[in-house]
Amino acid sequence: MELDKTLFIESFKKRLSQKYAIDVSDATNSELYDTLCSLVKSSYSVSWRQTWKDYLKENEKQVYYFSIEFLPGKLLKSNLLNMGWYQLVIDSFKEIGIDFEQVAAVEPDMALGNGGLGRLAADFMDSLASEGYPVNGNGIRYRYGLFKQRFVNGYQVELPDEWLKTAAGNAWEIRRASKAVTVTMGGHVELVQKNGYLEPIYKDATLIKAVPYDVGIVGYHNQHVNTLRLWSAEIPEAVESCYPTIEARRQIEDITTVLYPDDSNEAGRRLRLKQEYFFVSAGVQSIIRHYKKYHETIDQISQRVAIHINDTHPAMCVAEFMRILLDEEHLSWEKAWEQTVKTMSYTNHTIMAEALETWDIPLLNEIQPRILQIVAEIDHRFVAHLAGKMDGQLIERTRIISGGKVHMAHLAVIGSHSTNGVAQLHTDLLKSDVLRDFYTLYPERFNNKTNGIALRRWLQLANPELAAIIDQKLGRNWRQNACQLQQLQQYNTDEQFLKKLAVVKLHNKQRLAKLIEERTGVTVDPTAIFDVQIKRLHAYKRQLLNLLRIIKLYLDLKENPDLAIVPRVFIFGAKAAPSYHYAKSIIKCINETAALINHDSTIQGKIKVIFLENYDVSLAEQIIPAADISEQISTASKEASGTSNMKLMLNGALTVATLDGANVEIKEQVGADNIFMFGLTKQEVYRYYQDHSYHSLDYYHHNLVIHRVLDALIDGTIPNIAAEGHEIFDSLTYLNDDYFVLRDFEDYLRIQDQVDETYRDQKKWQQMSLINIAKACHFSSDITVKKYASEIWQVRSVAQKGGVNIGYPL
Ligand SMILES: *Cc1c(COP(=O)(O)O)cnc(C)c1O
Repeated sequence: MELDKTLFIESFKKRLSQKYAIDVSDATNSELYDTLCSLVKSSYSVSWRQTWKDYLKENEKQVYYFSIEFLPGKLLKSNLLNMGWYQLVIDSFKEIGIDFEQVAAVEPDMALGNGGLGRLAADFMDSLASEGYPVNGNGIRYRYGLFKQRFVNGYQVELPDEWLKTAAGNAWEIRRASKAVTVTMGGHVELVQKNGYLEPIYKDATLIKAVPYDVGIVGYHNQHVNTLRLWSAEIPEAVESCYPTIEARRQIEDITTVLYPDDSNEAGRRLRLKQEYFFVSAGVQSIIRHYKKYHETIDQISQRVAIHINDTHPAMCVAEFMRILLDEEHLSWEKAWEQTVKTMSYTNHTIMAEALETWDIPLLNEIQPRILQIVAEIDHRFVAHLAGKMDGQLIERTRIISGGKVHMAHLAVIGSHSTNGVAQLHTDLLKSDVLRDFYTLYPERFNNKTNGIALRRWLQLANPELAAIIDQKLGRNWRQNACQLQQLQQYNTDEQFLKKLAVVKLHNKQRLAKLIEERTGVTVDPTAIFDVQIKRLHAYKRQLLNLLRIIKLYLDLKENPDLAIVPRVFIFGAKAAPSYHYAKSIIKCINETAALINHDSTIQGKIKVIFLENYDVSLAEQIIPAADISEQISTASKEASGTSNMKLMLNGALTVATLDGANVEIKEQVGADNIFMFGLTKQEVYRYYQDHSYHSLDYYHHNLVIHRVLDALIDGTIPNIAAEGHEIFDSLTYLNDDYFVLRDFEDYLRIQDQVDETYRDQKKWQQMSLINIAKACHFSSDITVKKYASEIWQVRSVAQKGGVNIGYPL
């Protein structure tokens, strides 16, 4: 039954009264939020159960997407949108005098991820449900999400994110104690002969109870609800007495206490390896248990189950799956291996050497000795299989265990039937460089799947005004079918529409200006160019290149206050890993530069620098619709794909970009005239690596502009950065500037002048903006997941698209 306002209001009041024994007028936002979530959940639960039943009835092949991070942000609005309730709830609340935005603001961000990797997993979950695919997420329910960032004297300070302790808690999860499994870690293992099988006997092992918390993932207008399953570590009741003290209990509970706050990797942390094995083992055990409930034999499991390894953190899925098929199901090695490879697939997310995970052999032995045995046997058979057929050095380079370490990417490639990169340039680099030897061995396993973003969250929810004017031109079908956005191109000469675009952008900038004023006390002019760089702070992402240009502009303006530039507001959002000293120094320098510039009246407010604290999904949703310029300026070859580049173009920002990651494909889509490209190419970067001909110090000595700008870091021009300024100065000069900041500087200045020139022609700017919005549909994650489904997992969509809302019962 379709829902209407009267029915909704009546049910809402009734539920509020049942839960809290109060009227609307007496309720706090928190109570209103909780009541709304309760109604939402009880309504989609009907579809959730039905989705499960349909899977079973049809014996559907199921996919399990293993990711150590999921970064969904807030879920209330996206659930309402996908259920078809969004407008109805806003209208109903208005009628009974509730401010919907204030109620929605109560929800804490679900920040179980660091950045791009976790956000991608969340966008995929949304798209997979919306496209009706039978795909389940599998991850960790961290008690503390990613740290909250504060600035104190310009320095980053980290505070814990106790999201489960907020008044709103996690309203979306359901604890399923009955589906708990036991994970075995530590101790020793011996193999004994028993009934013709080798049986592992565990001694002194630790047993951990893994309890799943399920979050419903509601598809868009299709009554399809998938499951994101997050595991929590607890002490098994049977052995509770073995953990008499808080200290002892903590040993176990700590496994799912904190998310590692590094977006690349800190290998060598014992607890991190425990986390990885914990969620892998819990997930794989529950998959196999579920499969066995409905199938008599297990030797064809790959026909009904696919497991996806999102980056190497869940690579032990390969060994855990083998362990169960061998030790518990007694399959032969050959049969088990065949099923494992057919079941597994793997996505590589980075070429950064320090992020390619390896673990010391003794450590893996300590965490799970049986897994080490199995990995060693996989390695042994891999080598034996290739011996004599392949170059010995290639075998050495590709084996899983070498140099006293276990190479997780090798395990993932060897143990799966598909390895994909996340943008064409990145996949090409995997083939030609990072995983070259594996490409020689298994060319058929390699494929590209360029990342994507959920247009529902990043356009419909984040930028409702833009969505509304698109509706006026295209009708509402594009909301269901992203490709239709392309048709916007035909309004390229429709002056009225271009003006509307400009008005929407201005409104969004005014809103952001208000937020900036509230949070920083700095006033910014909404008619200035809003120049945005939002992403984790990393040397390779080159926030520093942006900063050096800001310093140059400032010095120019000091010298010549009448300099004719288009006013700009530089907006940063970025967290640094707490242990990443250099990145934190860059934050300090940006903050001090901002303080200097924002308080210097002699430059007449022509430039402002705003660094907003605590960049997260919710802040991204507020910044992105207001951006004019999207800074995507990583050193060519270093950014695997990037997804903020996609979110920003979708909202009409123009991209200043190097030829890196998905920027290359954005350029292909919009054409070279509708993007500002600059900088070294991947080939040029690699040539420098080969012939060592880059000498950054020469740029300091011979380029007057660079000289002047770098000196400002160390001569007191920018106050309070004595240590940090020198550290950065040295990295760019004496330490030879690993990321070619100085090499790309002049070209960056050139392209930014072009940005100014273009902005002066507002009609041209709006036309370029329109093309970017129209072409962004190619980066819809709906399209990306369809490719994963058909080309990697071989699963089909089981839901009808077609505007069916979730209705009665409330
Ligand atoms: C999209 C997103 C990212 C990824 O940004 P990149 O520029 O692609 O690195 C990181 N954090 C948040 C909160 C995001 O929404």
